[in-house]
Amino acid sequence: MKKQFAVIGLGRFGGSICRALSEQGMEVLAMDKNEDRVNEFASIATHAVIADTTDENVLKNLGVRNFDHVIVAIGEDIQSSILTTLMLKEVGVKHITVKAQNDYHEKVLRKIGADHVVHPERDMGRRIAHYIVSNNVLDYLELSDEYSIVEIKVNELLDGHSLIDLDVRAKYGLNIVAIKRGREIIVTPPAEDPLQKEDILIIIGADSDINRFEKKVM
Ligand code: ADP
Repeated sequence: MKKQFAVIGLGRFGGSICRALSEQGMEVLAMDKNEDRVNEFASIATHAVIADTTDENVLKNLGVRNFDHVIVAIGEDIQSSILTTLMLKEVGVKHITVKAQNDYHEKVLRKIGADHVVHPERDMGRRIAHYIVSNNVLDYLELSDEYSIVEIKVNELLDGHSLIDLDVRAKYGLNIVAIKRGREIIVTPPAEDPLQKEDILIIIGADSDINRFEKKVM
């Protein structure tokens, strides 16, 4: 059976989740209290309804508890976001993802049992900071407070060296999990092969170790 999603709040964030889920062929119920927003998604989502989700009866009548995953993407209105999340939890929705506006909002959401709290502006800001500081860092994904995955471009310093030469596991405690070479992805990179300029190394490890490696090879 197809997974069923509901998205509450069709601003930039919720709207883009709704579009992406629909493009992937998922069943999506799109909800917003604003009629214009709902009309915009009428032809994109499986169903689009005008609903104020801070009203418990509205949520019950829509059968929200039957959805596999509900995304709460109410932006500015923190009170509505918290109340909606609380009621989704109460009716027994299995999986709830909520967008937080700030750290206090996040704290409350976690307390009331949101399964996944996202902070898109903060996270994107951090991610972008990483690749504007260093020309060789192409992307950066935070796994936890301490661990990340980074994509680092092979420059003159690394060009021609093999993974054995670099020995990042022993020297930095890092793992090179894959190499992107043009359109190809090498998932278990042979340790003896020389790296080529423009290869992209996908590296996993502790942030402090990644920083040491970046400083050494940049
Ligand atoms: P973004 O920063 O993602 O663009 P917005 O604040 O613009 O976020 O969008 C949030 C959306 O959530 C708006 O379309 C707003 O109408 C909707 N929204 C706010 N409160 C409620 C509510 N109680 N029930 C349903 N939708 C709501």
